[in-house]
Amino acid sequence: MKRRKFLFTTSALAFGWILNKQGWLFANNASIATEMEFENFSTADYDPDFGDKFPYQLPRLPYEYNALEPFIDKQTMELHHTKHHQTYINNLNKALENQTFKNAPLIEIFRDVSKLDKAIRNNGGGHYNHTLFWQMLKPNPDKKPNLPSEKFQAELNHYFGNFENLKNQFTEKATKLFGSGWCWLIWTSNKEMKIVTTPNQDNPLMDVVETKDRGLPLLGLDVWEHAYYLKYQNRRAEYIENWWNIINWDFVEKRFNQAKK
Ligand code: MN
Repeated sequence: MKRRKFLFTTSALAFGWILNKQGWLFANNASIATEMEFENFSTADYDPDFGDKFPYQLPRLPYEYNALEPFIDKQTMELHHTKHHQTYINNLNKALENQTFKNAPLIEIFRDVSKLDKAIRNNGGGHYNHTLFWQMLKPNPDKKPNLPSEKFQAELNHYFGNFENLKNQFTEKATKLFGSGWCWLIWTSNKEMKIVTTPNQDNPLMDVVETKDRGLPLLGLDVWEHAYYLKYQNRRAEYIENWWNIINWDFVEKRFNQAKK
């Protein structure tokens, strides 16, 4: 069982919420927060791949805008990164700037996000989800077969039988997700892998998601139209089928190995 110490984050969040709910002005409540210790934290209590802090900034992509061609085109990547992702960051910084808990890790804020301004949920999710998404992709210009390592496939098989089952289940859920949102492979606090979807920019770390569908994202797919419309128009299924060629399985496996410890 993990025991972790948090200096002020959660208590400041809870107290800020009470004040906010009463319609009172926020006071500088950092001084009233005490060191708290929690038990039974799920794997969602950290994310080594998201180290960003307020004020948030656009992360560099680990490859060029044209590097994911022919599966995702340069123009889509450039707009998605410099316009869509940047807008989430701008709006997140604006929503947080007068909040006492603005320096808390986003992953902590997600735990109580249902009690906060909806702009924090939408834009905090937008920033976190895209930051992970970029790292979950890798170039494959020669269109080589793209499978997880044998070791990681053995882990996946434990939950899905075989890789094809995982692929089919994920593809079906992502294809059928109505409107805009994300499809995820998550690691739950019950130490299980699961495929879930979230609407809009929600993610499985947020308290707005049903407990059974919460967990640490290992792999995520953006199925907003802005992620594929220029190249694929309304053909979401074709975008998803092509996406399997550019999943960065090493990154996903690394996250799994960190989470299952
Ligand atoms: Mn997007």
